[in-house]
Amino acid sequence: MRAISLLLFILAAITLRYPEAQAYDETLQVDVRESERQQGQFFNVSVTGSSGQPTLWFMERSFAMFRQPDSSWRALVPVENLTNPGSYAILVRTASFEQKIPVRVTPNNRKIQHIRLDPTKKGIRATETEKTRIKTALQIQTHEKLHSGVFLRPAPGRVSSLFGLKRSYNGGPVTSYHKGIDISAPQGTPVRSTAAGRVVLAGTVAEGFHLHGNTVVIDHGQGLTAIYMHLHTIAVKEEQIIDKGVVIGTVGHTGISTAPHLHWGTYLYGTSVDPLLFLGREY
Ligand SMILES: [Zn+2]
Repeated sequence: MRAISLLLFILAAITLRYPEAQAYDETLQVDVRESERQQGQFFNVSVTGSSGQPTLWFMERSFAMFRQPDSSWRALVPVENLTNPGSYAILVRTASFEQKIPVRVTPNNRKIQHIRLDPTKKGIRATETEKTRIKTALQIQTHEKLHSGVFLRPAPGRVSSLFGLKRSYNGGPVTSYHKGIDISAPQGTPVRSTAAGRVVLAGTVAEGFHLHGNTVVIDHGQGLTAIYMHLHTIAVKEEQIIDKGVVIGTVGHTGISTAPHLHWGTYLYGTSVDPLLFLGREY
């Protein structure tokens, strides 16, 4: 008995020292779909063969892995837009297993966008109300996956501004980047939810959404949320469960906006990623 315990201890020690050996958990498998992603994209990581929830680490931050219908675990791990390009690792750990997968982050070469604002709108700052409520909503991590199938386009129209562009307002320094895409459309154009989910924020200018304008945030589950900004009208209420394609409001010009357009942003674990990665695709 003692000899077996000792053998198990040695095996465990070997497994921990040489994770790739997988001696202790032969059926457990970690898969990173694409090991090279650009700034503003995400890694699709899945773990099969683990009964317990694995932990995942990337850039000194831990990410929850969520249970899938086929009983695997998955995390869509965001690469923040301002991440330095280079070599990194994704670490996956269970009670008896650890594996480090080398990954690469490449530059997306998005340019600096110089934005002129209407003098009457210059100087508008986000209120504490909108900052807090939006941040809270975008960081929601629901264990259940609420969406299925391919993501729809939220509104017809030309994409007038891409994700990730560094922004300078009225000739000032670069202070932020564009955390979504802009779709140019006339005021009143219906805006539809790109996927099923739960409305976790419906905020209006009257409530203090001076910068973002009338805003809707939808939780699609498993760390994925989406924001729709500058709406003319809002057609949904907080806590409402909605299907894919449901009209959530109309295109507008509210908040800090130069012309009627929809700003659509997608977030993983509260980090902004390129919405175009979702259009017409399934995750
Ligand atoms: Zn925008």
